[in-house]
Amino acid sequence: MSNQVIPFNKPFVVGKELFYIAQAVMNGGIAGDGQFTQSCQQWLEDNLGCPKALLAHSCTAALEMAAILADVGPGDEVIMPSFTFVSTANAFVLRGAVPVFVDIRPDSLNLDERLVEAAITEKTKAVVAVHYAGQPCDMEALLRICNNHGLMLIEDAAQAILAREKTRALGTIGHLGCLSFHETKNVISGEGGALLINDPKLIERAEIIWQKGTNRKAFARGEVSKYTWVDVGSSFLPSELTAAFLYAQLEQGESINAHRRALYEAYYNQLQALEADGCFQLPRTPGGRPANAHIFYLLMRNNHERSELIQFLRERDIHAVFHYVPLHDSPAGLRYSRSVGELPVTCDVAQRLVRLPLYSDMTARQVARVCTAIAQFFAEPRAV
Ligand SMILES: *Cc1c(COP(=O)(O)O)cnc(C)c1O
Repeated sequence: MSNQVIPFNKPFVVGKELFYIAQAVMNGGIAGDGQFTQSCQQWLEDNLGCPKALLAHSCTAALEMAAILADVGPGDEVIMPSFTFVSTANAFVLRGAVPVFVDIRPDSLNLDERLVEAAITEKTKAVVAVHYAGQPCDMEALLRICNNHGLMLIEDAAQAILAREKTRALGTIGHLGCLSFHETKNVISGEGGALLINDPKLIERAEIIWQKGTNRKAFARGEVSKYTWVDVGSSFLPSELTAAFLYAQLEQGESINAHRRALYEAYYNQLQALEADGCFQLPRTPGGRPANAHIFYLLMRNNHERSELIQFLRERDIHAVFHYVPLHDSPAGLRYSRSVGELPVTCDVAQRLVRLPLYSDMTARQVARVCTAIAQFFAEPRAV
């Protein structure tokens, strides 16, 4: 058997990235908001279906723009899961707001919409729906709650490029949606992200915040005669070099996801027998079909067995990792946020979840090698 390392993730290059970067250089200007930025934004608006997309240098930046647009200030509260990446919370903490953590559902590992209403106080301004592994939160329920209470609904769709909930693309359903093109995601540009502005009333201010708090966009369109400082803002836009790389990736986005879905389904089929034997739990993807196959994970029986499996795989040159260290009991989480209850599902899942290798040019043979190694692990006698 091949002893080549199967990494946990590997950045995937589709082929036309350097060609488009050369074009960007030849176009003259390589700062932000040029031709490739426009093309990427148009692509996102057309293919995801949203009125306005703005490229950002990361999803973290897009979340920070969303926090400004949500008008949260010191003491305001924002409801979100603790089972997420730090940027979901940090974006709001930077504005002085308090993340309020609510537990996740044991099936989708997404924010438990049944617990949200009880977490709302007079200080609540927004809810952040994180689509873990690219699998949709219950957006209908969350929209209903947010509309009833006058709250903004923000989607952290960092993992969810081209994932859909019925007919709607994730990131286009809440008032605002944030995408990531970090090299660990499905569609990449090294660092990169986008803010999707689904509420047309927010577009004008979003463009100002994006352009360092100036009305440069309106000036460029000839709508105002002076270009000046009109609001808070920062430098959120990526350079044309990043946008050119990203455009090549976006063009192949559907085929990248199709290949990942095939790998995901191969994992699923080859591991079902072990699940039936009670060795672990497979992801609860409705109909067995993943939305965009961003993550494939196992829920092990306990923390000890997870550590053993990760070690066993590593000895066979297969890199698996755990996910996430929950935010609520991290050092910064304890300082800046509060939790609603003990978050039992979050604590339990974080102890037992292991992510298996999944990257865009992984092969079916490599998936089979991982599955064989997992079967060997469980074939050894072990105490549960
Ligand atoms: C990756 C990720 C982010 C951050 O994305 P960057 O583009 O690296 O800033 C935020 N939230 C979630 C849920 C993520 O998975």
